[in-house]
Amino acid sequence: MPEGDTVWRAARDLNTALAGRTLTRCDIRVPKFATTDFTGQTVDDVVSRGKHLLIRVGGEDGWILHSHLKMEGLWHVYRTGEKWRRPAFKARCVLEAGDVQAVGFELGFLRVLPRREEADAVGYLGPDLLGADWDADEALRRLRAEPERPIGLALLDQRIMAGLGNVYRCELCFLAGVHPLTPVGQVPDLPRIVELSKRLLEANKNRSRRITTGAMGRDQLWVYNREKRGCLRCGTKVAHELLGDDELSLRDLYYCPHCQPLRA
Ligand SMILES: [Zn+2]
Repeated sequence: MPEGDTVWRAARDLNTALAGRTLTRCDIRVPKFATTDFTGQTVDDVVSRGKHLLIRVGGEDGWILHSHLKMEGLWHVYRTGEKWRRPAFKARCVLEAGDVQAVGFELGFLRVLPRREEADAVGYLGPDLLGADWDADEALRRLRAEPERPIGLALLDQRIMAGLGNVYRCELCFLAGVHPLTPVGQVPDLPRIVELSKRLLEANKNRSRRITTGAMGRDQLWVYNREKRGCLRCGTKVAHELLGDDELSLRDLYYCPHCQPLRA
């Protein structure tokens, strides 16, 4: 599942492939932007903001291709003419610059907006865990602003910290020893959770398999998706529920009832 580390890596690879190069093909397969064509324009850079990916084209007065991977999306970089590793009908965007090609598959959303509207598009996000401007104190301040909110929901809120997804929210609650429904105001050591969030994303940003346990191989996560195998630390059956702010935002939640008891 794409989280901030996945998106950071995609942005890095796309930036390496496209930055400073002139587009020789631009095929946006989203009805609203099907006629948008950046052929002949230069890609300035490609950056991630939390889980959002921004491809900036055409300079200060230019445009942004703004995408979000949601659940299934991914970007691939190919040599032009190389066979794609995903079916063509799943492609939403093809950008070619001479001998390299970037293809976005199953993007959760893709839109084009003027560069000057970048702040409107991603300015609401909290400090970006993998951003050059990461600010732990500001993240902590935003986290503390809603003390009644369950920590398991606050960690997914991109306005508080940008970059965490469902795997990390489960693993962070485990590492902190807190039940995901614990109100933020009752979590014993919030600065440590913020610090751990940063450390986990940094540790994983350069690798394709996400590891929170320090172990390679089969046991890379403590509780996420381990309902059949049990908690990696104590073996207790891992609880699996759904948790979200509303019906639409429900996500799988995993926790160990023994290691993460709900305290009164
Ligand atoms: Zn346990």
